Amino acid sequence: MIDLRSDTVTKPTPRMRQAMATAEVGDDGYGEDPTVNELERRAAEIMGKEKALFVPSGTMGNACALLAHTRPGDVVLMDAECHIYYYEHGGLAALAGCLPVLWDTPNGCPSPDFVQSHIGRNPRQFPPTTLVCLENTHNRRGGVVMTPEEIARVYAITQEAGIALHLDGARLFNAAVALRVSVKDFACHVDSVQFCLSKGLCAPVGSLLAGSEAFIARARRARKRLGGSMRQAGVLAAAGLIALTEMPNRLEEDHANARHLARALASVEALRVRSESVVTNIVLARTEELGVDAAEFAKRLAERGVLVAVYGPTTIRFVTHHDVTREDVERAAVVTLELCEELLRRKASRKGAVL
Ligand SMILES: *Cc1c(COP(=O)(O)O)cnc(C)c1O
Repeated sequence: MIDLRSDTVTKPTPRMRQAMATAEVGDDGYGEDPTVNELERRAAEIMGKEKALFVPSGTMGNACALLAHTRPGDVVLMDAECHIYYYEHGGLAALAGCLPVLWDTPNGCPSPDFVQSHIGRNPRQFPPTTLVCLENTHNRRGGVVMTPEEIARVYAITQEAGIALHLDGARLFNAAVALRVSVKDFACHVDSVQFCLSKGLCAPVGSLLAGSEAFIARARRARKRLGGSMRQAGVLAAAGLIALTEMPNRLEEDHANARHLARALASVEALRVRSESVVTNIVLARTEELGVDAAEFAKRLAERGVLVAVYGPTTIRFVTHHDVTREDVERAAVVTLELCEELLRRKASRKGAVL
């Protein structure tokens, strides 16, 4: 099977396994796990923030940020296709008690006017807007990248208003590699940032949340409330340290593989792949013009040995990662094109039958 469903399917590397086996550990509930402490220190340093917090998942990292930045009843501004809104099972409402107000733009970055108009609302009539959330790279929008300048424009507004800006940077290292900048260049324009070790960086478990010392102290209490405070978590942090320090450099390979796949798929117009918009490791394609829905298309690809994610009624997602090679990607492209041809022939013959 060639598994292109997600970069979360990556397995820990042999070096990670070894580091996990020999990790120095302690009780992180007491702040005594040296490997967790080292991971948090390195993460803060790499992001250019005062402190960082190791959490079991990206979803919990975002939830801790929401709890630390807001109070129940507050408005949080975010993109209509963002992960926090789409995939975190309503944590924003159920855990933080907040109300999302959504924008909808091609790369998931809000217009300054949108943010300004919601911040400036009459407090006698409207609940306060206390947080804006961004996502980079943007998953549901096809792994597109927001530039540091775009983020800085939003930050200027939130800073002026004295409200918080959070970055869901689950794949922030992919964004940095794509633009050839450092993750700090994004993180310096937000109050808090969450990033995943367990996606393209191949660690088995874990995310980090970074921000000011006062923010991380609040987030640490939120993590405890959510049940995410761990004990000898150094066995996980040991893999995380390798993910953080050694794996970002190879993400370019995943991006090149995704571009390669996108260029091949773009030869079938019906798939609606815009290869020029594939800048990181995600490729979205459409199935409606092939006469099948996404679930049917994914099932037929699986029968041919290629796994993809169903991303909407007629949208499928391919994600390249460490555990698929260029040959795998080429094979996946051939198999996908064969399936398309078959479906288009079937569609044409059906049309013929009707006439
Ligand atoms: C995967 C992902 C998350 C959540 O990470 P988990 O570790 O799966 O909880 C958050 N945001 C984005 C954009 C993601 O892609």
